[in-house]
Amino acid sequence: MHMWERLYASAFEKVKANIGNVRGVLLAYNTNIDAIKYLRKDDLETRIERAGKEETLRYSDELPEKITSVPQLLGSILWSVKRGKASELFVESCSTRFYMKRWGWDELRMGGQVGIMANLLGGVYGVPVIVHVPQLSRLQAGLFKEGPIYVPGVEDGKLRLVHPGDFKGDEESCIHYIYEFPRGFRIFDFESPRENRFIGSADDYNATLFIRDEFRERFDEIASKVDLAIMSGLQALTRENYREPFETIRGHLEVLNEKNIPAHLEFAFTPDETVRNEILKLLPEFWSVGLNEVELASIMEVMGEKGLAEKLLAKDPVDPIAVTEAMLRLAKETGVRRIHFHTYGYYLALTDYRGEFVRDALLFAALAAASKAKLGDVPSINEVVQAMGVPVNEKVKPVEGTLAEEYGMRGGIAEVDNYQLAFVPTKIVAKPKSTVGIGDTISSSAFVGEFALEVSF
Ligand code: ADP
Repeated sequence: MHMWERLYASAFEKVKANIGNVRGVLLAYNTNIDAIKYLRKDDLETRIERAGKEETLRYSDELPEKITSVPQLLGSILWSVKRGKASELFVESCSTRFYMKRWGWDELRMGGQVGIMANLLGGVYGVPVIVHVPQLSRLQAGLFKEGPIYVPGVEDGKLRLVHPGDFKGDEESCIHYIYEFPRGFRIFDFESPRENRFIGSADDYNATLFIRDEFRERFDEIASKVDLAIMSGLQALTRENYREPFETIRGHLEVLNEKNIPAHLEFAFTPDETVRNEILKLLPEFWSVGLNEVELASIMEVMGEKGLAEKLLAKDPVDPIAVTEAMLRLAKETGVRRIHFHTYGYYLALTDYRGEFVRDALLFAALAAASKAKLGDVPSINEVVQAMGVPVNEKVKPVEGTLAEEYGMRGGIAEVDNYQLAFVPTKIVAKPKSTVGIGDTISSSAFVGEFALEVSF
Protein backbone atom coordinates (compact mmCIF):
# COMPACT_ATOMS: atom_id res chain seq x y z
CA MET A 1 0.00 0.00 0.00
CA HIS A 2 1.04 3.58 -0.66
CA MET A 3 2.82 5.03 2.40
CA TRP A 4 0.27 7.77 2.95
CA GLU A 5 -2.71 5.44 2.66
CA ARG A 6 -1.14 3.23 5.32
CA LEU A 7 -0.46 6.20 7.59
CA TYR A 8 -4.01 7.49 7.08
CA ALA A 9 -5.55 4.15 8.04
CA SER A 10 -3.49 3.72 11.19
CA ALA A 11 -3.93 7.36 12.28
CA PHE A 12 -7.70 7.03 12.03
CA GLU A 13 -7.76 3.87 14.12
CA LYS A 14 -5.50 5.41 16.77
CA VAL A 15 -7.48 8.64 17.12
CA LYS A 16 -10.80 6.80 17.16
CA ALA A 17 -9.58 4.49 19.90
CA ASN A 18 -8.30 7.35 22.04
CA ILE A 19 -10.63 10.28 21.52
CA GLY A 20 -12.66 9.08 24.51
CA ASN A 21 -9.70 10.01 26.72
CA VAL A 22 -10.49 13.69 26.38
CA ARG A 23 -12.42 14.74 29.47
CA GLY A 24 -13.70 18.04 28.14
CA VAL A 25 -13.08 20.94 25.78
CA LEU A 26 -14.07 24.52 26.43
CA LEU A 27 -15.27 26.38 23.32
CA ALA A 28 -15.56 30.15 23.37
CA TYR A 29 -16.84 32.66 22.16
CA ASN A 30 -18.85 32.90 18.93
CA THR A 31 -22.05 31.01 18.23
CA ASN A 32 -24.83 32.23 15.97
CA ILE A 33 -27.58 31.20 13.59
CA ASP A 34 -26.91 31.12 9.85
CA ALA A 35 -30.14 31.68 7.89
CA ILE A 36 -29.60 30.78 4.26
CA LYS A 37 -31.76 32.24 1.52
CA TYR A 38 -31.29 31.13 -2.09
CA LEU A 39 -32.04 34.25 -4.13
CA ARG A 40 -34.71 34.16 -6.86
CA LYS A 41 -34.59 36.62 -9.73
CA ASP A 42 -38.29 37.62 -9.80
CA ASP A 43 -38.54 38.01 -6.08
CA LEU A 44 -35.39 40.16 -5.88
CA GLU A 45 -36.40 42.34 -8.84
CA THR A 46 -39.83 43.02 -7.37
CA ARG A 47 -38.30 43.91 -4.03
CA ILE A 48 -35.81 46.29 -5.63
CA GLU A 49 -38.55 48.02 -7.66
CA ARG A 50 -40.60 48.42 -4.51
CA ALA A 51 -37.70 49.77 -2.42
CA GLY A 52 -36.68 52.25 -5.16
CA LYS A 53 -34.52 51.03 -8.00
CA GLU A 54 -32.43 54.15 -8.45
CA GLU A 55 -31.36 54.40 -4.83
CA THR A 56 -30.75 50.64 -4.60
CA LEU A 57 -28.51 50.61 -7.68
CA ARG A 58 -26.32 53.29 -6.14
CA TYR A 59 -25.28 50.88 -3.40
CA SER A 60 -24.49 48.21 -5.95
CA ASP A 61 -21.67 50.47 -7.15
CA GLU A 62 -20.33 51.25 -3.73
CA LEU A 63 -21.04 49.32 -0.57
CA PRO A 64 -22.23 51.27 2.45
CA GLU A 65 -20.21 50.88 5.65
CA LYS A 66 -23.12 49.24 7.39
CA ILE A 67 -26.75 48.67 6.52
CA THR A 68 -29.29 51.14 7.81
CA SER A 69 -32.09 50.79 5.22
CA VAL A 70 -33.76 48.30 2.89
CA PRO A 71 -32.33 49.88 -0.31
CA GLN A 72 -28.86 49.52 1.23
CA LEU A 73 -29.52 45.85 1.95
CA LEU A 74 -30.78 45.08 -1.56
CA GLY A 75 -28.05 47.22 -3.17
CA SER A 76 -25.34 45.40 -1.21
CA ILE A 77 -26.73 42.05 -2.35
CA LEU A 78 -26.54 43.35 -5.92
CA TRP A 79 -22.95 44.49 -5.32
CA SER A 80 -22.03 40.88 -4.56
CA VAL A 81 -24.03 39.45 -7.46
CA LYS A 82 -22.46 41.82 -10.02
CA ARG A 83 -18.93 40.89 -8.99
CA GLY A 84 -19.44 37.29 -7.88
CA LYS A 85 -17.76 38.37 -4.67
CA ALA A 86 -18.59 37.60 -1.07
CA SER A 87 -19.21 40.41 1.33
CA GLU A 88 -20.51 40.82 4.85
CA LEU A 89 -22.06 43.86 6.47
CA PHE A 90 -23.56 44.62 9.83
CA VAL A 91 -27.29 45.43 9.75
CA GLU A 92 -27.94 48.21 12.19
CA SER A 93 -31.56 49.26 11.74
CA CYS A 94 -34.24 47.21 13.41
CA SER A 95 -36.73 47.92 10.62
CA THR A 96 -34.31 46.38 8.10
CA ARG A 97 -33.79 43.40 10.43
CA PHE A 98 -37.55 42.95 10.60
CA TYR A 99 -37.72 43.13 6.80
CA MET A 100 -35.10 40.36 6.55
CA LYS A 101 -36.90 38.21 9.06
CA ARG A 102 -40.15 38.50 7.10
CA TRP A 103 -38.34 37.80 3.83
CA GLY A 104 -37.36 34.57 5.52
CA TRP A 105 -34.93 31.76 4.81
CA ASP A 106 -34.77 28.38 3.10
CA GLU A 107 -32.51 26.74 5.61
CA LEU A 108 -31.13 27.30 9.10
CA ARG A 109 -27.66 26.13 10.04
CA MET A 110 -25.45 26.28 13.08
CA GLY A 111 -23.12 29.23 12.69
CA GLY A 112 -20.06 30.66 14.38
CA GLN A 113 -16.84 28.73 14.88
CA VAL A 114 -17.84 27.67 18.40
CA GLY A 115 -21.23 26.38 17.27
CA ILE A 116 -19.71 24.42 14.41
CA MET A 117 -16.97 22.91 16.58
CA ALA A 118 -19.47 22.08 19.36
CA ASN A 119 -21.57 20.01 16.97
CA LEU A 120 -18.48 18.26 15.60
CA LEU A 121 -16.62 17.54 18.84
CA GLY A 122 -19.63 16.93 21.07
CA GLY A 123 -22.26 15.80 18.58
CA VAL A 124 -20.07 13.62 16.34
CA TYR A 125 -16.94 12.62 18.29
CA GLY A 126 -18.73 12.40 21.66
CA VAL A 127 -16.13 14.58 23.39
CA PRO A 128 -17.76 16.61 26.21
CA VAL A 129 -17.76 20.32 25.35
CA ILE A 130 -18.68 23.39 27.37
CA VAL A 131 -19.86 26.07 25.00
CA HIS A 132 -20.12 29.84 25.15
CA VAL A 133 -23.35 30.86 23.42
CA PRO A 134 -23.71 34.65 23.65
CA GLN A 135 -27.48 34.45 23.26
CA LEU A 136 -29.45 31.25 23.54
CA SER A 137 -32.81 31.56 21.79
CA ARG A 138 -35.03 28.56 21.11
CA LEU A 139 -34.06 28.84 17.45
CA GLN A 140 -30.38 28.71 18.39
CA ALA A 141 -30.88 25.84 20.85
CA GLY A 142 -32.54 23.74 18.15
CA LEU A 143 -29.39 23.82 16.04
CA PHE A 144 -27.28 21.91 18.55
CA LYS A 145 -26.86 18.20 17.99
CA GLU A 146 -27.58 15.62 20.65
CA GLY A 147 -24.57 14.58 22.69
CA PRO A 148 -22.37 15.82 25.54
CA ILE A 149 -22.74 19.52 24.66
CA TYR A 150 -23.21 21.81 27.64
CA VAL A 151 -23.90 25.43 28.43
CA PRO A 152 -23.28 26.67 31.96
CA GLY A 153 -25.97 28.32 34.01
CA VAL A 154 -26.08 29.47 37.61
CA GLU A 155 -28.94 28.26 39.82
CA ASP A 156 -29.12 29.04 43.54
CA GLY A 157 -25.52 30.13 43.39
CA LYS A 158 -24.45 26.80 41.91
CA LEU A 159 -22.96 26.20 38.49
CA ARG A 160 -25.06 23.80 36.44
CA LEU A 161 -24.24 22.37 33.04
CA VAL A 162 -27.15 21.61 30.71
CA HIS A 163 -27.59 20.72 27.06
CA PRO A 164 -28.65 23.88 25.16
CA GLY A 165 -31.97 22.16 24.43
CA ASP A 166 -32.67 22.01 28.17
CA PHE A 167 -31.70 25.62 28.81
CA LYS A 168 -34.55 27.46 30.46
CA GLY A 169 -35.19 30.75 28.80
CA ASP A 170 -35.40 32.29 25.40
CA GLU A 171 -32.80 34.94 24.67
CA GLU A 172 -32.26 36.90 21.48
CA SER A 173 -31.51 35.33 18.12
CA CYS A 174 -28.19 36.34 16.57
CA ILE A 175 -28.91 35.75 12.91
CA HIS A 176 -26.49 35.98 10.00
CA TYR A 177 -28.63 36.18 6.86
CA ILE A 178 -26.78 34.52 3.99
CA TYR A 179 -28.08 35.42 0.54
CA GLU A 180 -26.71 32.86 -1.90
CA PHE A 181 -26.67 33.02 -5.68
CA PRO A 182 -25.37 30.59 -8.32
CA ARG A 183 -22.93 31.37 -11.12
CA GLY A 184 -24.79 33.00 -14.01
CA PHE A 185 -27.50 34.40 -11.72
CA ARG A 186 -29.18 37.14 -13.80
CA ILE A 187 -30.96 40.20 -12.52
CA PHE A 188 -31.77 43.32 -14.59
CA ASP A 189 -28.75 43.45 -16.90
CA PHE A 190 -26.25 41.95 -14.44
CA GLU A 191 -25.00 38.40 -14.49
CA SER A 192 -22.94 36.88 -11.73
CA PRO A 193 -19.54 35.58 -12.89
CA ARG A 194 -19.32 33.16 -9.94
CA GLU A 195 -21.46 31.58 -7.26
CA ASN A 196 -21.16 33.42 -3.97
CA ARG A 197 -23.01 35.04 -1.13
CA PHE A 198 -23.79 38.28 0.63
CA ILE A 199 -24.13 38.18 4.41
CA GLY A 200 -26.18 40.67 6.37
CA SER A 201 -25.49 40.15 10.01
CA ALA A 202 -28.22 41.04 12.47
CA ASP A 203 -26.12 40.25 15.48
CA ASP A 204 -25.03 42.76 18.12
CA TYR A 205 -23.51 40.16 20.40
CA ASN A 206 -20.87 38.28 18.41
CA ALA A 207 -19.74 41.42 16.59
CA THR A 208 -18.63 43.01 19.86
CA LEU A 209 -17.61 39.71 21.46
CA PHE A 210 -20.16 39.86 24.22
CA ILE A 211 -19.11 37.54 27.05
CA ARG A 212 -21.78 36.08 29.33
CA ASP A 213 -21.80 36.62 33.10
CA GLU A 214 -21.39 32.89 33.75
CA PHE A 215 -18.06 33.05 31.92
CA ARG A 216 -16.96 36.20 33.72
CA GLU A 217 -17.92 35.12 37.22
CA ARG A 218 -17.43 31.35 37.14
CA PHE A 219 -14.61 30.90 34.67
CA ASP A 220 -12.34 29.16 37.15
CA GLU A 221 -14.96 26.54 37.91
CA ILE A 222 -15.83 26.07 34.24
CA ALA A 223 -12.16 25.67 33.31
CA SER A 224 -11.58 23.04 35.97
CA LYS A 225 -13.94 20.71 34.07
CA VAL A 226 -11.92 20.62 30.83
CA ASP A 227 -8.57 19.42 29.47
CA LEU A 228 -8.41 21.79 26.51
CA ALA A 229 -9.78 25.11 25.28
CA ILE A 230 -10.40 26.46 21.80
CA MET A 231 -11.04 30.15 21.32
CA SER A 232 -12.33 32.03 18.31
CA GLY A 233 -14.48 34.95 17.32
CA LEU A 234 -12.00 37.81 17.77
CA GLN A 235 -12.12 38.63 14.05
CA ALA A 236 -15.09 41.00 14.03
CA LEU A 237 -13.69 43.40 16.61
CA THR A 238 -12.50 46.87 15.70
CA ARG A 239 -10.01 49.35 17.14
CA GLU A 240 -12.96 51.06 18.83
CA ASN A 241 -14.34 48.09 20.73
CA TYR A 242 -11.61 45.47 21.22
CA ARG A 243 -10.22 46.64 24.58
CA GLU A 244 -12.84 45.34 26.97
CA PRO A 245 -13.26 41.85 25.51
CA PHE A 246 -9.50 41.48 25.17
CA GLU A 247 -9.10 42.16 28.86
CA THR A 248 -11.58 39.42 29.71
CA ILE A 249 -9.90 37.00 27.31
CA ARG A 250 -6.51 37.74 28.81
CA GLY A 251 -7.97 36.91 32.21
CA HIS A 252 -9.39 33.66 30.86
CA LEU A 253 -6.03 32.69 29.40
CA GLU A 254 -4.34 33.36 32.73
CA VAL A 255 -6.71 30.93 34.43
CA LEU A 256 -6.19 28.30 31.72
CA ASN A 257 -2.42 28.63 31.88
CA GLU A 258 -2.41 28.35 35.66
CA LYS A 259 -4.26 25.08 35.30
CA ASN A 260 -1.98 23.88 32.48
CA ILE A 261 -4.87 23.67 30.05
CA PRO A 262 -3.58 24.13 26.48
CA ALA A 263 -5.56 26.81 24.64
CA HIS A 264 -5.85 26.94 20.85
CA LEU A 265 -6.71 30.12 18.97
CA GLU A 266 -8.66 29.51 15.80
CA PHE A 267 -7.57 32.54 13.82
CA ALA A 268 -9.90 34.01 11.21
CA PHE A 269 -9.26 36.84 8.82
CA THR A 270 -9.31 40.01 10.91
CA PRO A 271 -9.71 43.11 8.74
CA ASP A 272 -8.83 45.65 11.45
CA GLU A 273 -5.03 45.93 11.65
CA THR A 274 -5.00 47.23 15.21
CA VAL A 275 -6.96 44.18 16.35
CA ARG A 276 -4.68 41.87 14.34
CA ASN A 277 -1.71 43.41 16.13
CA GLU A 278 -3.36 42.93 19.49
CA ILE A 279 -4.06 39.27 18.66
CA LEU A 280 -0.37 38.90 17.90
CA LYS A 281 0.39 40.29 21.35
CA LEU A 282 -2.02 37.80 22.91
CA LEU A 283 -0.52 34.79 21.09
CA PRO A 284 2.21 34.13 23.72
CA GLU A 285 -0.60 33.13 26.10
CA PHE A 286 -1.86 30.46 23.69
CA TRP A 287 -0.45 26.96 23.29
CA SER A 288 -1.54 26.68 19.69
CA VAL A 289 -2.89 28.61 16.71
CA GLY A 290 -4.65 27.46 13.51
CA LEU A 291 -4.73 29.39 10.25
CA ASN A 292 -4.80 29.27 6.43
CA GLU A 293 -2.53 31.01 3.91
CA VAL A 294 -4.50 34.26 3.72
CA GLU A 295 -4.54 34.51 7.50
CA LEU A 296 -0.84 33.70 7.85
CA ALA A 297 -0.01 36.31 5.20
CA SER A 298 -2.10 38.90 7.04
CA ILE A 299 -0.09 38.22 10.21
CA MET A 300 3.22 38.47 8.32
CA GLU A 301 2.04 41.87 7.10
CA VAL A 302 1.57 43.30 10.58
CA MET A 303 4.93 41.75 11.57
CA GLY A 304 6.57 43.78 8.81
CA GLU A 305 7.29 40.71 6.64
CA LYS A 306 5.73 41.99 3.42
CA GLY A 307 7.95 39.82 1.21
CA LEU A 308 6.95 36.63 3.00
CA ALA A 309 3.30 37.69 2.93
CA GLU A 310 3.45 38.06 -0.84
CA LYS A 311 5.20 34.71 -1.30
CA LEU A 312 2.46 32.99 0.69
CA LEU A 313 -0.16 34.15 -1.78
CA ALA A 314 1.84 33.79 -4.98
CA LYS A 315 1.60 30.09 -5.83
CA ASP A 316 -0.85 27.22 -6.01
CA PRO A 317 -0.18 24.97 -4.17
CA VAL A 318 1.23 27.42 -1.63
CA ASP A 319 5.07 27.36 -1.41
CA PRO A 320 5.84 25.20 1.69
CA ILE A 321 9.21 26.86 2.28
CA ALA A 322 7.56 30.28 2.56
CA VAL A 323 4.99 28.75 4.94
CA THR A 324 7.68 27.16 7.10
CA GLU A 325 9.67 30.40 7.24
CA ALA A 326 6.55 32.34 8.20
CA MET A 327 5.65 29.80 10.88
CA LEU A 328 9.19 29.94 12.30
CA ARG A 329 9.02 33.74 12.43
CA LEU A 330 5.68 33.57 14.24
CA ALA A 331 6.78 30.85 16.67
CA LYS A 332 10.00 32.67 17.57
CA GLU A 333 8.28 36.03 17.95
CA THR A 334 5.43 34.80 20.15
CA GLY A 335 6.63 31.58 21.78
CA VAL A 336 3.42 29.85 20.71
CA ARG A 337 4.17 26.11 20.95
CA ARG A 338 2.17 24.80 18.02
CA ILE A 339 1.19 26.35 14.69
CA HIS A 340 -1.18 24.43 12.46
CA PHE A 341 -1.33 25.69 8.89
CA HIS A 342 -3.92 24.42 6.41
CA THR A 343 -4.30 25.10 2.72
CA TYR A 344 -5.96 23.45 -0.26
CA GLY A 345 -3.95 20.24 -0.64
CA TYR A 346 -1.80 19.99 2.48
CA TYR A 347 -1.37 20.82 6.18
CA LEU A 348 1.77 21.62 8.18
CA ALA A 349 2.28 21.73 11.95
CA LEU A 350 5.29 23.36 13.56
CA THR A 351 5.69 22.29 17.20
CA ASP A 352 8.33 22.82 19.86
CA TYR A 353 7.77 19.19 20.87
CA ARG A 354 8.21 15.99 18.91
CA GLY A 355 6.31 12.87 18.01
CA GLU A 356 4.44 11.12 15.24
CA PHE A 357 1.16 11.83 17.03
CA VAL A 358 1.31 15.41 15.71
CA ARG A 359 1.31 14.13 12.12
CA ASP A 360 -1.29 11.45 12.89
CA ALA A 361 -3.68 14.06 14.27
CA LEU A 362 -3.29 16.03 11.02
CA LEU A 363 -4.17 12.90 9.04
CA PHE A 364 -7.27 12.37 11.13
CA ALA A 365 -8.25 16.02 10.54
CA ALA A 366 -7.82 15.57 6.78
CA LEU A 367 -10.20 12.62 6.83
CA ALA A 368 -12.75 14.64 8.80
CA ALA A 369 -12.40 17.52 6.29
CA ALA A 370 -12.87 15.23 3.30
CA SER A 371 -15.88 13.64 4.94
CA LYS A 372 -17.37 17.08 5.58
CA ALA A 373 -16.70 18.24 2.00
CA LYS A 374 -18.23 15.07 0.58
CA LEU A 375 -21.34 14.82 2.72
CA GLY A 376 -21.83 18.45 3.78
CA ASP A 377 -21.68 17.33 7.40
CA VAL A 378 -19.79 14.66 9.30
CA PRO A 379 -22.50 12.19 10.35
CA SER A 380 -20.48 10.08 12.80
CA ILE A 381 -16.88 9.19 13.55
CA ASN A 382 -17.40 5.79 11.93
CA GLU A 383 -18.27 7.42 8.64
CA VAL A 384 -15.17 9.58 8.67
CA VAL A 385 -13.36 6.43 7.61
CA GLN A 386 -15.26 6.42 4.32
CA ALA A 387 -13.22 9.44 3.31
CA MET A 388 -10.33 6.94 3.05
CA GLY A 389 -11.65 6.27 -0.45
CA VAL A 390 -11.00 9.87 -1.55
CA PRO A 391 -7.58 9.93 -3.21
CA VAL A 392 -4.59 11.77 -1.76
CA ASN A 393 -3.98 14.96 -3.68
CA GLU A 394 -1.39 14.19 -6.39
CA LYS A 395 -0.73 17.87 -7.13
CA VAL A 396 1.01 18.07 -3.78
CA LYS A 397 3.79 15.60 -4.73
CA PRO A 398 6.20 18.47 -5.53
CA VAL A 399 5.46 20.04 -2.12
CA GLU A 400 6.54 16.83 -0.42
CA GLY A 401 9.63 16.71 -2.66
CA THR A 402 10.59 20.27 -1.75
CA LEU A 403 10.26 19.55 1.97
CA ALA A 404 12.37 16.40 1.65
CA GLU A 405 15.07 18.30 -0.21
CA GLU A 406 15.10 21.39 1.97
CA TYR A 407 14.60 19.88 5.44
CA GLY A 408 15.28 16.17 4.94
CA MET A 409 11.66 15.33 5.65
CA ARG A 410 10.82 11.61 5.93
CA GLY A 411 7.38 10.14 6.49
CA GLY A 412 5.98 13.62 6.91
CA ILE A 413 8.33 14.60 9.73
CA ALA A 414 11.41 16.85 9.79
CA GLU A 415 13.51 18.81 12.25
CA VAL A 416 13.79 22.54 11.49
CA ASP A 417 15.58 25.04 13.75
CA ASN A 418 14.82 23.11 16.94
CA TYR A 419 11.19 22.63 16.00
CA GLN A 420 9.43 19.61 14.57
CA LEU A 421 7.73 20.17 11.24
CA ALA A 422 4.92 17.71 10.41
CA PHE A 423 3.39 17.52 6.95
CA VAL A 424 0.45 15.67 5.42
CA PRO A 425 -0.93 15.70 1.88
CA THR A 426 -4.73 15.92 2.15
CA LYS A 427 -7.55 14.19 0.40
CA ILE A 428 -9.44 16.54 -1.89
CA VAL A 429 -13.09 15.97 -2.74
CA ALA A 430 -13.60 16.84 -6.41
CA LYS A 431 -17.22 17.96 -6.13
CA PRO A 432 -17.72 19.11 -2.55
CA LYS A 433 -21.26 19.33 -1.24
CA SER A 434 -20.31 22.15 1.09
CA THR A 435 -17.12 23.82 2.23
CA VAL A 436 -18.58 26.04 4.94
CA GLY A 437 -16.76 25.52 8.22
CA ILE A 438 -14.16 23.12 6.86
CA GLY A 439 -11.36 25.20 8.39
CA ASP A 440 -12.95 24.83 11.84
CA THR A 441 -13.37 21.10 11.28
CA ILE A 442 -9.69 20.72 10.36
CA SER A 443 -8.29 22.75 13.24
CA SER A 444 -10.46 21.34 16.01
CA SER A 445 -10.06 17.73 14.84
CA ALA A 446 -6.28 18.08 14.72
CA PHE A 447 -5.93 19.87 18.06
CA VAL A 448 -8.24 17.54 20.01
CA GLY A 449 -6.97 14.47 18.10
CA GLU A 450 -3.39 15.34 18.98
CA PHE A 451 -4.22 15.64 22.65
CA ALA A 452 -6.14 12.33 22.60
CA LEU A 453 -3.09 10.58 21.16
CA GLU A 454 -0.62 12.33 23.42
CA VAL A 455 -2.35 11.39 26.66
CA SER A 456 -2.46 7.77 25.51
CA PHE A 457 1.33 7.58 25.23
P1 ADP B 1 -13.39 28.27 6.02
O1 ADP B 1 -13.14 29.52 6.78
O2 ADP B 1 -14.49 28.37 5.01
O3 ADP B 1 -13.51 27.07 6.86
P2 ADP B 1 -10.60 27.89 5.43
O4 ADP B 1 -9.77 28.54 4.39
O5 ADP B 1 -10.25 28.17 6.83
O6 ADP B 1 -12.10 28.17 5.10
O7 ADP B 1 -10.52 26.30 5.24
C1 ADP B 1 -10.71 25.73 4.04
C2 ADP B 1 -9.84 24.50 3.99
O8 ADP B 1 -10.66 23.40 3.61
C3 ADP B 1 -8.73 24.54 2.94
O9 ADP B 1 -7.55 25.02 3.51
C4 ADP B 1 -8.61 23.09 2.51
O10 ADP B 1 -7.59 22.45 3.27
C5 ADP B 1 -9.95 22.46 2.87
N1 ADP B 1 -10.74 22.15 1.67
C6 ADP B 1 -11.34 23.03 0.84
N2 ADP B 1 -11.99 22.38 -0.15
C7 ADP B 1 -11.83 21.06 0.05
C8 ADP B 1 -12.25 19.86 -0.64
N3 ADP B 1 -13.00 19.93 -1.74
N4 ADP B 1 -11.88 18.66 -0.13
C9 ADP B 1 -11.13 18.59 0.99
N5 ADP B 1 -10.69 19.69 1.67
C10 ADP B 1 -11.03 20.91 1.22
